[in-house]
Amino acid sequence: MAGRRIVVVEDEEAIRRGVADALTYSGYEVVEAADGETGLEAARSHDNGLVLLDLALPKMDGLDVLVELRKTHPVLPVIILTARGSEDDRVRGLKLGADDYVVKPFSAKELLARMEAVLRRTPDRPHPVQSITSGGHTIDMARSEVCFAGGTVTALSEMEAEILRHLASGADRVVTREELLSRVWGIQDHNLETRAVDMHITRLRTKLDAGTGAERVEWIQTVRGKGYMLGKDLTIKCRDVHGESAP
Ligand code: CA
Repeated sequence: MAGRRIVVVEDEEAIRRGVADALTYSGYEVVEAADGETGLEAARSHDNGLVLLDLALPKMDGLDVLVELRKTHPVLPVIILTARGSEDDRVRGLKLGADDYVVKPFSAKELLARMEAVLRRTPDRPHPVQSITSGGHTIDMARSEVCFAGGTVTALSEMEAEILRHLASGADRVVTREELLSRVWGIQDHNLETRAVDMHITRLRTKLDAGTGAERVEWIQTVRGKGYMLGKDLTIKCRDVHGESAP
């Protein structure tokens, strides 16, 4: 199955084996590489779904692997594995076209959640989130519109729908402004534009609040100093459940 083959490029054997075992257990096919050169070759030579790329690697640095890989595979999903505190590497990795990053030490659960979020974004996959509801209000993700309990229907812009999709696929994880920037806008230069994210969220909240009237629904929660997540009391429905409004 396309997207199920994962290349794990990591020189620390214990980490590589641990990741490989967790992925195999979750039904992925795994190709392992212990240095940058082998990793680049493996990433290029199969029909891979995603690459997990350590940065400090023998023979060829992870960022160099990424640069070379992007020349031939501009959209192959890549998640970089970075050490705590190496924020510069993380930012450089995202600028060079990595889709996301995971900071070591990470849990298998966190890694799988990140991978699934990245894989969901690939164009040939229908997004599994169908609707987000609160009481009688329903955000229909397939139609990009909100059906409020009072009967009003409001269209969402493409950006607004994308923001909600990414927050919903983060499940109960905080989504940072940087992540939203790179995922929704495709902007990798995080220093410049994070305020644009706040402005869009504010506008989206205003639009949602207008439809719920006096009733306060927390659609999007701000997590101070971190980013955003969907409100805790919302119901997220996934594939094959239609976003009909509740009676
Ligand atoms: Ca390493």
